[in-house]
Amino acid sequence: MDGDPAADLLFIGEAPGFHEDRQGRPFVGAAGQLLDSMLASIGLDRTTCAIANVIKCRPPGNRDPLPDEIESCRPYLDAQLAFMDPTVVVTLGNFATRYVLARQVSISRVRGQRFTVGGRTVIPTFHPAAILHGGGQGSPQMQALRSDFALIRKVLDEKEAERRAVAASPPAPGPPPAEERVEQQSFF
Ligand code: URA
Repeated sequence: MDGDPAADLLFIGEAPGFHEDRQGRPFVGAAGQLLDSMLASIGLDRTTCAIANVIKCRPPGNRDPLPDEIESCRPYLDAQLAFMDPTVVVTLGNFATRYVLARQVSISRVRGQRFTVGGRTVIPTFHPAAILHGGGQGSPQMQALRSDFALIRKVLDEKEAERRAVAASPPAPGPPPAEERVEQQSFF
């Protein structure tokens, strides 16, 4: 895991690549550079969110993770989620999205939508590597990624506004303080 574990926002990728495996940090290669630039586009960086992967070791030859590998790593990602307790989770690509939604969805169908899972807002989007290996900067997938990051910004702003409203609202009326009660009783 990288970034700030006290942040409200967690990105979940698929598995470390070559560079990530060597450095022990997620998204430090080309896909990470695209992720960093998308974070910057909405005023964030690695100090204001956290980043983790479904799989904790690089699958040989960068192949897709196998179901038993996902299961072996489940206790680690579940523990990271429980420890960090983020209010917003962004899933990058099919594997993270299926893991968090616990459904065999296709990322192209669910990206850019908001889901609520265990009290958290979940926003699936394309994996940055899919953009790099697909159409690149001018592609419809890149446009979708930009629009999904704009949604992430909007959701974070909404959560912040909700927090401020709660902090500014007067406390709910409770029983009168003990002293007042004593005075009232001595009346009779
Ligand atoms: N792709 C991922 O899913 N995770 C990484 O850490 C790097 C590339």
